[in-house]
Amino acid sequence: MSENQKHFETTVIHKGYDAKEMLGSLATPLFQTSTYTFDTAEQGERRFAGEEEGYIYSRLGNPTVKVLEERIAALESGERGLAFASGMAAVSAILIALTKANDHIICSSGLYGCTFGLLMMMKDKYNITHDFSAMETKEEVRKLIKPETACIYVETPINPTMKLIDLQMVAEVAHEYDIPVVVDNTFSSPYIQRPIELGCDVVIHSATKYIGGHGDLVAGLAVGKKDFLDSVAMTTQKDIGGIISPFDAWLLIRGLKTLPIRLDRHSDNAEKIFEKLRRHSKVKNIYYPNDETHPDFSIRKKQMKRGGGIISFEIDGTKEDAQQLLNNLSFLKIAVSLGDAETLIEHPATMTHAVVPEKSREEMGITDQLIRLSVGLEAWEDIWNDLEQALNKLS
Ligand SMILES: *Cc1c(COP(=O)(O)O)cnc(C)c1O
Repeated sequence: MSENQKHFETTVIHKGYDAKEMLGSLATPLFQTSTYTFDTAEQGERRFAGEEEGYIYSRLGNPTVKVLEERIAALESGERGLAFASGMAAVSAILIALTKANDHIICSSGLYGCTFGLLMMMKDKYNITHDFSAMETKEEVRKLIKPETACIYVETPINPTMKLIDLQMVAEVAHEYDIPVVVDNTFSSPYIQRPIELGCDVVIHSATKYIGGHGDLVAGLAVGKKDFLDSVAMTTQKDIGGIISPFDAWLLIRGLKTLPIRLDRHSDNAEKIFEKLRRHSKVKNIYYPNDETHPDFSIRKKQMKRGGGIISFEIDGTKEDAQQLLNNLSFLKIAVSLGDAETLIEHPATMTHAVVPEKSREEMGITDQLIRLSVGLEAWEDIWNDLEQALNKLS
């Protein structure tokens, strides 16, 4: 029976692991080893020459990591997956593999802060330039394409304003010019959105977030065509070396099993909290792509299964009021990161997006009153009670 014919909820638990190969162990064993012994010197020679299959050294491959890589590849409908020490290790390995000096990158108008930092560094050191685009129409993307454009890099939903980009539309334009499209799918996870099925080429995750789901590790993943990821494995992954530890891969295999259940609950809770927040007099603007009043609702219907667990909102007040709201909370946690069982709340202008210059921040819609909420798995009534009492305490 082909594994591909199974449902997502089954693949997330079984793909890439055969208990018969591991003494019947139900749980994937943790191969906490740096290296592998050869029976003979000649066997070592054959392994290095690629004439014999087998493990050599854990930067080049590890059986626990391999299960995770096969699983994420199947979940994202890609051919091969690679695991990294962090989301940024994945982002940098992919972007460095795709570019050379003097190339050009087209990016969505909002980017994760450290991805923005990496692009700045690539520009300073290698003259790899970039342009930002809202990517609302094909024309808008087309007019930025140059002979040296090496890739289009997209985040959707955009952090923290939750604007959406039509991935199928972007992939169609890019492929007219043979340019690969890379998507950071961290905010949705493959349960909600699968960019490769929409025509995109490479998917990246900060597995620290929804894929891990328990706030206990930092890791990254990339999925794409076998040829391309084989080359990444042998170059920017092997030689720069940002590989995942076997233990973190083991935790991710464990976390992944409940991804569909968690994402449904995150989305259910977020829908409830959204309805409550939008009716509160202290909330001025609210951004959650699941609602018909959201400008990109039609894109959400087209490419996302659910709205996901992230809501951003502006309070009617000052920066100090926004900070006071966080301080007024009783059990909800003030923290960056997202996608954990615990509800996390943060102030983008002074935390995740503090490095972005004020003018760019304003253009991106990140005001001093904006708050980002990663709705957790607690009872939504308790989440709302805490938020409501904190909002009500604002003068
Ligand atoms: C957190 C995050 C990253 C970076 O991932 P790390 O695991 O922290 O290195 C990249 N993109 C997005 C959208 C993120 O939220």
